[in-house]
Amino acid sequence: MNNRIYQRCTRCVMDTTDSKISFDENGVCDHCRNFDKNIAPYWKPAENRFDELEKIAEKIRKAGKNREYDCILGLSGGADSSYLAYIAKEIMHLRPLVYVVDTGWNLNVAVENIEKIVKGLNLDMYTDVINWKEMRDLQLAYFKSGISSQDFPQDHAIFSSMYNYAVKHGIKYILTGSNSATEFIRPPVEWIYMNDLRMAKDIHKKFGTIPLKTYPTCGILRYRIWYKYFKGMKRVYPLDYVVYDKAKAEQFLNEKYGWTKYKNKHFENVFTRFFEGYYLPTKFGYDTRKNVLSNEILAGTKTREEALEILSKPPYDLSQALKDKTYVAKKLGISTDEFDSIIKDENKTPDDYKNSFWMIKLGVWFCKLLGIENRNIR
Ligand SMILES: [Zn+2]
Repeated sequence: MNNRIYQRCTRCVMDTTDSKISFDENGVCDHCRNFDKNIAPYWKPAENRFDELEKIAEKIRKAGKNREYDCILGLSGGADSSYLAYIAKEIMHLRPLVYVVDTGWNLNVAVENIEKIVKGLNLDMYTDVINWKEMRDLQLAYFKSGISSQDFPQDHAIFSSMYNYAVKHGIKYILTGSNSATEFIRPPVEWIYMNDLRMAKDIHKKFGTIPLKTYPTCGILRYRIWYKYFKGMKRVYPLDYVVYDKAKAEQFLNEKYGWTKYKNKHFENVFTRFFEGYYLPTKFGYDTRKNVLSNEILAGTKTREEALEILSKPPYDLSQALKDKTYVAKKLGISTDEFDSIIKDENKTPDDYKNSFWMIKLGVWFCKLLGIENRNIR
């Protein structure tokens, strides 16, 4: 934890729980200043750019000619990926393979949403079920490691599985539901660390109990260099080309496909809900809502007052959090007491383990130089 005097940005809601945040004389944080300087001038929020989107779609259709699918699309059942599926099929006229990764934690609402979207849009779906024993072993190892980013085992499995499948089956285009309107500010690395396979291996070596034989992996060099430059894998962000008003998109998905809204971003999954709503705030003092809400303030979809009002309430109901904790412990095969004592153990950082952060930082620096990455990463 850091010993700085508490301060919150006067424009967004990021604060000194991001230990490296800095403020100017008006109390505006460096995330906001970076947004003004490097992102806002290029960001076109209020216009649909269907012409540009159609050009991309044309390329994708051409690359996929005579193939069963011309692109692959990861569907979590959340609003972003569900709306993406609609755009891909109905606006871009693509033939995507919907790729679902079952990490063992999906809530029924997510599974049902996936079914509704796939059926409603008449798409093909492939599901990769991650070996639960391995998943559990890695997740338990992560908890025992005491670091903040417990999201790694699931997130890594989800994107590695999909990337590996796409490359293996010659599908060049990966559609992603990420969009810059919700990601101007990256969560600080100390809150949510990065895709660092080297660290994962070290943590699993120290705290794991069984070998990971089938758990899908994809290191940063493999997908950033090998897949991209040698296998021709391309990631496309269609939501950046349309006016993406999340509330309207959710209403549309609901009316057209019977899709159901989740309570909070990433809360489609018990583990993620527990991790972001309880583990991170209570163990580390990190509240990812500050990051999400600050993005909304910069995008102009929420006022700072509305954001502060939301932050004045806990991320989620404490009784639900305790229920989730019991559920997570049981699923991981340990008692709630044991889980409590693991959570109470000393907080660690990636510096306590072997890691590739220097390489990640170098990569980000390089991307900034090329103008591919505009966000602050530290
Ligand atoms: Zn700010």
